[in-house]
Amino acid sequence: MKKTTKQFGFLCIRNRILFFSLIITLIPVLAMGWLLNDMMESTVTEKCQQKLEHISTIIQRELSLWFKERKYDLYIFSKSFVITENYRESIRVAEAGELTNGNTPVSIRMVETYLGSVQNQFEYYSNIILCNSDGEVVAASQADLPLEEFKLPENFKEQLEIDNYFHSAVYFSEEYGAPMMLIGTLLFNEKHDDYDGLLAIEVNLIKIREILNSALEGNAWESKPVAALLQLGNHKLFLTSEETTVPNEAEISINFDHPYSVLQEYLNSWGEKTIGLLAPMKEFHWAILVSENYAEVYDQVLASRNRNLFIICLLGFAVGLLAWLLARQIIKPLQSITSAARQVADGDLNVHLERSNNDELGLATHVFNDMVGELRENQETLMQLATTDSLTSLANRKKIMAFLLSQFELFTRYQTNFSILMMDIDHFKEVNDTYGHQTGDMVLAGIGEILRDNVRNIDAVGRYGGEEFLVILPESEKDDAMKTAQRIGDKISAVLFQSDKRVVRVTASIGVATISPMDKSEGDLVKRADEALYKAKESGRNKCIYLHSDQESWEEELESSTE
Ligand code: GH3
Ligand code: MG
Ligand code: MG
Repeated sequence: MKKTTKQFGFLCIRNRILFFSLIITLIPVLAMGWLLNDMMESTVTEKCQQKLEHISTIIQRELSLWFKERKYDLYIFSKSFVITENYRESIRVAEAGELTNGNTPVSIRMVETYLGSVQNQFEYYSNIILCNSDGEVVAASQADLPLEEFKLPENFKEQLEIDNYFHSAVYFSEEYGAPMMLIGTLLFNEKHDDYDGLLAIEVNLIKIREILNSALEGNAWESKPVAALLQLGNHKLFLTSEETTVPNEAEISINFDHPYSVLQEYLNSWGEKTIGLLAPMKEFHWAILVSENYAEVYDQVLASRNRNLFIICLLGFAVGLLAWLLARQIIKPLQSITSAARQVADGDLNVHLERSNNDELGLATHVFNDMVGELRENQETLMQLATTDSLTSLANRKKIMAFLLSQFELFTRYQTNFSILMMDIDHFKEVNDTYGHQTGDMVLAGIGEILRDNVRNIDAVGRYGGEEFLVILPESEKDDAMKTAQRIGDKISAVLFQSDKRVVRVTASIGVATISPMDKSEGDLVKRADEALYKAKESGRNKCIYLHSDQESWEEELESSTE
């Protein structure tokens, strides 16, 4: 018996249906999801870029305005008659040598008093300083502070040459706890129409935070951006729109070579992922940094990505389930056909498949049933041919001997008695010789019919050899068997067989025997029946003789038919 090998893995139809269904569904869905996500990400990035750019433009404009105001303040201070005249007077006194060593000229004291009163009116000017044209401090509104600490920027002269103003780098003041800067200009004496020295103001930059915050608050943003100012010289951050959190002069990992006004991702001072853009503040060599928390900006995109992923998973599951159900619909009938075909291959033709669907598989089931039906019919015909004698239509020797064996087995197991008749046509050779073989055949066929008609349904008749026949009579003992044998013998001798207008008569001799516990096999019984037949022939033919199992007593039991 050949066994069909089972197919596993990808080769299995169910797995292939599952795989291709998932591929066909998930590829477009994933591609679409990816596209949508990409579009959404670009939209969010663009929106963020526009927003931050807008804020940085406002801050640029407001800071420029603020700077102009500081320049204007300086311009007004520098033209102050009190300052210019007293400064000239101090120079004159010094040049005339009228000043006693170590004493501050009165004129300078007057300037200091004046500067002090002016400074008091401006909250965010922490000092107003008068310097000579070499940048050395002459007078200051906060005269009691160590004035030698005030250093003008080294390049103040070059700055002045460009637009009459100079400014220092931002520095941090411990006293004010704030970033500071010096802005200065030339001192112009209108009376003499000449420049005398320099006037500088120390500005507390904390005021700028208001500018940053007002630029940020102008719009109802979903997430709040942060604005900060950095020095391009040392890349340090000195002011942010948030009051408490940003460390002073903190360094951040932003790339200063990145083009201005283009978004970039970086880690802020706290190591948080941030997205922001730099814009230049040319007047002071600063940069404006407007930024937002990356996670807050892309929250929506992330949420939508997660939602899409969930939907894709759900879809995958649904498609998988449907594909599995579809595969089941195909595989179940296939499995039934396969196992039925295996049954047929093993020789069992008692198979019938239920046709469930009216589709191709239903048709295959139908064709399979037809094929098995055809095979069954052919098998029956073959069986018939293999076990039937073609001339007499009786069981052939093989079949009658098989029946005899089964009777013998029944007897050994249940002691069910049975008898047999061994019959031989008398002088049949003469029939052949006289009338020809065809007539002989016709006689044999006729005898077959007589035998069939004169036994019970449960009896069996077979052609044992040329003109010898074996009859098996289940549940029959000597008397019944002898009656049947005589009835058959009488019928045969009474029949006139017609052949070519000639009439043929034949007789038969029959040996009868009943099974006995002494019989070792069915062969012993056949042998006894053969011996009885021999006796019948010997004692004149056309008679039935019964032979007991105790073969010594057979002579006593001889019985003959009526002639
Ligand atoms: P006996 O009374 O001693 O049995 O004599 P008999 O002539 O019948 O016995 P024998 O064994 O000498 O001859 C049997 C004959 O049966 C020989 C054979 O030609 C014939 N025979 C056997 N089978 C067939 C058959 O199928 N058709 C025909 N026509 N004759 C057959
Ligand atoms: Mg014979
Ligand atoms: Mg014979």
